[in-house]
Amino acid sequence: MVIIVSAPSGSGKSTLVNALMEQVPGIRFSVSYTTRTPRGAERDGESYHYISREEFERRIDAGEFLEYAEVFGNYYGTHRSYVEAAAYSGYDLLLDIDVQGAAQVMDKLPDAVTVFILAPSREVLEKRLRKRSEDSEETIQRRLREASQEVRFAERYSYVLINDDVAESVQNLVSIVRAERVKRERLREKLSPILDTYLSQTAAG
Ligand code: 5GP
Repeated sequence: MVIIVSAPSGSGKSTLVNALMEQVPGIRFSVSYTTRTPRGAERDGESYHYISREEFERRIDAGEFLEYAEVFGNYYGTHRSYVEAAAYSGYDLLLDIDVQGAAQVMDKLPDAVTVFILAPSREVLEKRLRKRSEDSEETIQRRLREASQEVRFAERYSYVLINDDVAESVQNLVSIVRAERVKRERLREKLSPILDTYLSQTAAG
């Protein structure tokens, strides 16, 4: 199962995603490729694979990305191999990607579970961005303008988490994943041998 999570910057996405991964086993994070430089304690291969613009463009031409987009002037992309490895090995893959990339994945993988995370209002988002105090005024204003564009995409997602209370949002995100895992159509392979045991019993008895 592929889980896509998108949110405007400052909506609390990282906190919710980290809590989900801690609480629900069997989910791996898709480490994207990006041309932006590492921030703070970020290390290559953990948050992202950091590559040059030239290398990114070479990989685009080689068709290596399931999706890619330009966000805040940098390229970001999901490598196909992550999705293929997840499908092969049978774990769920979490994609933390922007709305443009999400739209591309929705087209290619219509079964993907899509979650949009949203601060309860623009005002609250602005307060949160200021509280982080890691950004300049110019960056805060730019993030708010971007948020106004990104929220327009919320209606394309199956689930929307209005992130007012973090603990409640974590619970909701965990519930979404757990419920999606037991959808009948996802259980097809597991279900048929179980149903067979009942059917063969009927035939015998
Ligand atoms: P940041 O630079 O703050 O880590 O991420 C900026 C934005 O890029 C976030 O909205 C994040 O979800 C998005 N992003 C990260 N990885 C990818 C990716 O592989 N593809 C796309 N389309 N967006 C990504």
